[in-house]
Amino acid sequence: MEERKILIIYTGGTIGMVIDPETNSLVPFDFENVSNHVPELRKFDFQIKSISFEPLVDSSDMNPDIWIQLVTMIEENYSEFDGFVVLHGTDTMAYTASALSFMLHNLQKPVILTGSQLPLGTIRTDGKENLITALEIAAAQKNRQALVPEVCIYFKDKLFRGNRTTKYNAEHFHAFRSDNYQPLAEAGIHIKYNYPYIRYTTLNGTFKVTKKMDTGIALLKIFPGINRDVVRAVLGAPNIKAVVLETYGSGNAPTSKWFLDCIEEAIEKGIIILNVTQCLAGNVEMWRYETGVHMLDLGVISGHDLTTEAAVTKLMFLLANAGSEEEIRTNLNKSLRGEIYN
Ligand code: ASP
Repeated sequence: MEERKILIIYTGGTIGMVIDPETNSLVPFDFENVSNHVPELRKFDFQIKSISFEPLVDSSDMNPDIWIQLVTMIEENYSEFDGFVVLHGTDTMAYTASALSFMLHNLQKPVILTGSQLPLGTIRTDGKENLITALEIAAAQKNRQALVPEVCIYFKDKLFRGNRTTKYNAEHFHAFRSDNYQPLAEAGIHIKYNYPYIRYTTLNGTFKVTKKMDTGIALLKIFPGINRDVVRAVLGAPNIKAVVLETYGSGNAPTSKWFLDCIEEAIEKGIIILNVTQCLAGNVEMWRYETGVHMLDLGVISGHDLTTEAAVTKLMFLLANAGSEEEIRTNLNKSLRGEIYN
């Protein structure tokens, strides 16, 4: 059997840091020599190559231009490698994973994002286990087909679909959750794959990369007492084409006239309003309460069980790549990469 090859792409973040013995502070290490820091990598029965971003990016500085750089790296190396492990800061990892899931079409190879809460160069690091298991998953195959041909996040002991994931803990090693979708795998003594939940695209589709994202969107989280000027300012911001509205519970928002008028005005101007819930789990069902029905009548679109991260990146993707407003609306109501239930 031909030897499998996995590419590690180090973008930046805590995982790739070691303590500088001279200054005692954390500094990034040269990832091309990653196996000097994690000698276990030499024991794998597949080849590992690594490349790094130049300059490295703290994930708080992530943006769509860098996502384009990342998908270009994956595209350039797609035919040579069997899987990809993307090392990334945890702060915006769920946004990047969601964005990549939309930007990579007909993916037939694993793209596994991981990182760590403690740097690889520290004794109690969670980075070693995360990196080693992410690599094992990226290389896992049956009859030369990848077991998980999806964009995923592996963290602590779970593999999640990337566009279903949210960072929820800034302290624990269990930093991510996916409350609306089962993990795709769990790592204990064995890695147990949850096959019915893994998405397999048809093998005859051609792999394609989208390199356009439109940032003309806003995110508005409502709260009791939200001020009319704030709502107006966000919905009326120049060059905004779509707004993710984070509402309460099953998609409910205030029924005050001024609030509904602002929504109506925005929709009349052609702005798309996508309703997602502030809750970590569950679905938007605007028909359930009068407070949601008003918005449904005005033309607000249900985000179903989308995470905010997936809502933001799906809109960026659709605004840049769909041919018409109708096409955007239709695609918001269906699953493109397993990001919503349908
Ligand atoms: N601020 C860092 C980042 O997101 C934290 C981390 O790596 O987890 O890049």
